[in-house]
Amino acid sequence: MCGIVGYIGTKKASPILINGLLKLEYRGYDSAGISTIEKYGVSNLKNKGRVANLYDLEGINDLEGTVGIAHTRWATHGKPSKENSHPHLDNSNTFAVVHNGIIENYSDLRKFLSDNGYIFLSQTDTEVIPNLIHYYFSKDTNNDNKKFLRAVNSACKDLKGSFAIEVISKLYPDVMIVARKDSPLVIGTTETENYISSDIPAILSFTKNFYLLNDNEFVEVYKDKVVFYDNDLSIINKPIKNIDWDASAAEKDGYEDFMLKEIYEQPNTVRETIGSRIKKGEKCAFDDLELSKEYLSSINKIYIVACGTAMHAGLASKKTFEELTNIPVEVDIASEFRYRNPLINSKTLVIFISQSGETADTIAALKLSRSKGAKTIAVSNVIGSSITREADYTIYTHAGPEIAVASTKAYTSQVVLLDILAIHFAEILGSYDTKLLENLKNDILELPTKIDKVLENIDIVKDLANKVYTEKDMYFLGRGIDYTVALEASLKLKEISYIHSDAYAAGELKHGPIALIENGVTVIGILTDKNLVEKSISNIQEVITRGAKTFIISNQDVNNKNFDYVLNIPDTNAFISPILSIIPLQLFAYYISKNKGLDVDKPRNLAKSVTVE
Ligand code: GLU
Repeated sequence: MCGIVGYIGTKKASPILINGLLKLEYRGYDSAGISTIEKYGVSNLKNKGRVANLYDLEGINDLEGTVGIAHTRWATHGKPSKENSHPHLDNSNTFAVVHNGIIENYSDLRKFLSDNGYIFLSQTDTEVIPNLIHYYFSKDTNNDNKKFLRAVNSACKDLKGSFAIEVISKLYPDVMIVARKDSPLVIGTTETENYISSDIPAILSFTKNFYLLNDNEFVEVYKDKVVFYDNDLSIINKPIKNIDWDASAAEKDGYEDFMLKEIYEQPNTVRETIGSRIKKGEKCAFDDLELSKEYLSSINKIYIVACGTAMHAGLASKKTFEELTNIPVEVDIASEFRYRNPLINSKTLVIFISQSGETADTIAALKLSRSKGAKTIAVSNVIGSSITREADYTIYTHAGPEIAVASTKAYTSQVVLLDILAIHFAEILGSYDTKLLENLKNDILELPTKIDKVLENIDIVKDLANKVYTEKDMYFLGRGIDYTVALEASLKLKEISYIHSDAYAAGELKHGPIALIENGVTVIGILTDKNLVEKSISNIQEVITRGAKTFIISNQDVNNKNFDYVLNIPDTNAFISPILSIIPLQLFAYYISKNKGLDVDKPRNLAKSVTVE
């Protein structure tokens, strides 16, 4: 999500920290800040904007400290602003913290701390951390040299969500405490200096020797030693890992391309999107939405409007909204919607999806909807982006910055978020069986583990990509929700491999497209909807008869059906199956593009954020 850097050694920390941040800026870039331990206490210089702006901050050149922490933010809670920038300090200015991740229970912790007299200066989730550390520190009557570590450990035990943190204190000028859970953090080590970072590239020029932290590990970092503890503060031994990547490989966490990195991030990004919105035994919670039962009962149509992959995410969630809420849903392309005088009024709810939040057609469609009196919800990945300023409400995917032009992790996050929103509506309306909703929520909670399983089993995909990458045309088939995945898979293939492909609803085939099928052509079938699998199998038999080579993605038993390749993926609730079935097809497009020697991350003619119509 963001970048954090730390330094403890013999040199002035601030130039090293700022340099490190500049290398991490691709991870997040809406604000930056730095704290060092100075003679007078903990410094705190920060502002909204790019890392380079730090050079202009008054006092930046006066920092002498040899211990410091720094952050480049990618806001999740609270708009980009000076107050919300990290580092955050506790009320007594004793502890400074930088944080990467999301504290899901921050409202409860904020309330607890407020009840105990703490005040808050920002809207971030992060600010609870330094104050919690102070809270535990001041309650601890044992003044031994582990008191700082214990306070950080106790505070972290209260945190739900994800975090990588660095903490410094004016009371302990010789040590920095770092910890992580579900957010990355590494320590680069030498005999006299230690460097901390969200990822390896920012500090690779200083050392090749790294400690890679695991979840719930706590570390005391001194300039000349590093001591690791488990969650109960027992000392653990950690081997040093020698990293021999070059700088460009390192920026991608060792992956060859950002797209591959982002595909492999999906267990985590989906987990972040689910966040605290689903808790076992409770109703779904959307902090930023206030839609009453009265309002939801009054609407007679939901539009979902977006472009490209985001529009496919809308299509994937249409079934969930319609079945769970009984409200008709129409999914539309923003550039069409904005010019066709859509029938919308105050009884229409319009949901807009844009990863960047800057998609020109989607923003124009949003303005049009508002002018016609509809309520609007934006689904975006970027805090404070244009779309979020125009909509009545915004819900964030929290998938972290997506660098590759072809969207992967943003898509799966959008689908899961829309599905959770549909459940939320159903819970407000009482429109769907509560037991079935509970089951669906449990299935959503299992998605990250199932995505891991899909990612472990992709040899067939690689093998096939290797065989078919020189082909000119391919076809994707599916019915129902699988058809929406076919559309997205076909788009991915076009975007990065430049192979022509089309997606068809399997039942449509015989109404025309089957004329395109000839000997040896590759047809990819997505077969996950139990109710429709038999029908789709029949359609695929029709293309086999006409000489097609078939590749099937399925969570059902479809072996022994004359298919050439079958990839089994874990079974899940039909509503959410796109989140699993798209992943091998993202990889299929990726490996075809690699086999063709193309620039996967920057495909020709395409831009990441389409700010023109
Ligand atoms: N959730 C924190 C915030 O919004 C940290 C975001 C980040 O990882 O940059 O400030």
